[in-house]
Amino acid sequence: MNFLEERILREGRVLPGGVLKVDGFLNHLIDTQLLNKIGAEFRRRFEDVEVTKILTIESSGIAVASIAANYFNVPVLFAKKSNGVNMDSETYSAPAYSFTHHAEFHASVAKRLLGPEDKVLILDDFLATGSAAMALVDIVQQSGAVLSGIGIVIEKGMQPGGELIRQKGYRLESIAIIDKMDAESGTIEFRKL
Ligand code: 5GP
Repeated sequence: MNFLEERILREGRVLPGGVLKVDGFLNHLIDTQLLNKIGAEFRRRFEDVEVTKILTIESSGIAVASIAANYFNVPVLFAKKSNGVNMDSETYSAPAYSFTHHAEFHASVAKRLLGPEDKVLILDDFLATGSAAMALVDIVQQSGAVLSGIGIVIEKGMQPGGELIRQKGYRLESIAIIDKMDAESGTIEFRKL
């Protein structure tokens, strides 16, 4: 069992509806030492690929991506879920559906911040249906950049996102993959790799 799986077992709570609550170290209170280890682990796993930018999505991906970015020495670009007045008018945009908010949204990135010269590593906290990750892949493709890979902190393997992404041939590295979890008993089972 790796350091993240141990932490999930110790502090994660399984909610009804297939949601894992990890707000004691990842989604609300942030354990930056743990994120440092996660960043180093992403660097190790993507040692052989070229990366010029890390792309994530607001809001919970930002902390993960920012700390990991220190290990890659590259900037972090985060897709916005709503276009405020300070957003450029020229954007790459892709639709997605939020598993936790039960709502559709558009992920947008300013065109001037991503282009064909970039090699992009997508990072996010969770992978469930794959909607958020696929919206980011769509944005990378619109920009003409190269997709170097996708890194996920916690993949819920019982949901289709991981299989969908692997089937498409994208390189996906998840630090913990949960294959089973049960709200009533609170049990969590990880994929043995
Ligand atoms: P997807 O788009 O793959 O369905 O879901 C990914 C996004 O939904 C992640 O960015 C994450 O914020 C959120 N999410 C999905 N499942 C969970 C979960 O079980 N727990 C938490 N805390 N967030 C989740």
